[in-house]
Amino acid sequence: MVDMDQLQQRALQELEDVGSSEGLEAWRQAYLGRAGELTTALRGIGQLPAAERPAAGQRANQVRQVLTSAFEAREKAIEAQSLAAMLESSSLDVRLPGRPPSLGHLHVINQVLRDVYAIFAQMGFSVFQTREVEDDTTNFQMLNIPPDHPARDMWSTFYTTTPGVLLRTHTSPGQVHAMRQFHPDPFRVILPGKCYRYEQVTTRSEYMFHQVEGLAIGQHITMGDLKGILEHFARQMFGPERRLRFRASYFPFTEPSAEADVDCAICGGKGCQLCKHTGWLEILGGGMVHPTVLANGGYDPAIYSGFAFGMGPERLALLKYGINDIRLFYANDVRFLQQFG
Ligand SMILES: [Zn+2]
Repeated sequence: MVDMDQLQQRALQELEDVGSSEGLEAWRQAYLGRAGELTTALRGIGQLPAAERPAAGQRANQVRQVLTSAFEAREKAIEAQSLAAMLESSSLDVRLPGRPPSLGHLHVINQVLRDVYAIFAQMGFSVFQTREVEDDTTNFQMLNIPPDHPARDMWSTFYTTTPGVLLRTHTSPGQVHAMRQFHPDPFRVILPGKCYRYEQVTTRSEYMFHQVEGLAIGQHITMGDLKGILEHFARQMFGPERRLRFRASYFPFTEPSAEADVDCAICGGKGCQLCKHTGWLEILGGGMVHPTVLANGGYDPAIYSGFAFGMGPERLALLKYGINDIRLFYANDVRFLQQFG
């Protein structure tokens, strides 16, 4: 006959080391299961001499009670342990310091655009938004650029599958829309937005870029007004010491036409790498609205006059921040963009 004291002691010791529900089940099979040690021992009682059976049976039943209640206690302890472990691993620890949300900010070009809006707003210019998809008539012909005009060579763009419908090459077609909307009143607007050109992307040109067009129409408007407005703009944008110079130029939709340079803020006009040792940086083009364009907008050129100018916010940003590659603006490299947060 099996030594019941020894069996009980061994079983209880092993139970103490059980740490999982799988281990617990294995222990139960080993002692209390059908083929377990205690069950086998109970069956063996029948072969004992009749006088020994009652005492042996009583002792075996005691051991079974002890092991069964020890098993139940251990089962509860293991359940409690695994519940605590699960809560620990999945719970939210409210004592931890929070993770600060990472805030985005305006793209550097949008910042420059807003600077431009604010400066012109001080001078009474409102923002006039027009379409990016234009027709050939408004993008070219209304602006004095007929189909065979050589200026079109510089303005190849993206065409849609609808004949004559294209992505605008400049913001100037907005001049026609603005004049037709405000006619016959005098008005002052800036026309910001995206433009497109079908050309090779280099450090100085992109297939998509922004322009801010300016347009003032009224009576007795002169080139002197244009110069005064642009000088004020340059000083607000680049600093009060800045000087502006005009150079004669040519655009099909202005007459006379000029390009404006601002003296280099880096070298103060002495000459440096940024200004290619000229002391001057080109910032925009403009002139008096061509009589044909005025008439296309509905204004009688014998009574009305106006000036128009156009500038590139990317170029303003290149100059303002000393950036040497226009492609950086739209490459979506966060390391570049974060510098302007
Ligand atoms: Zn310079």
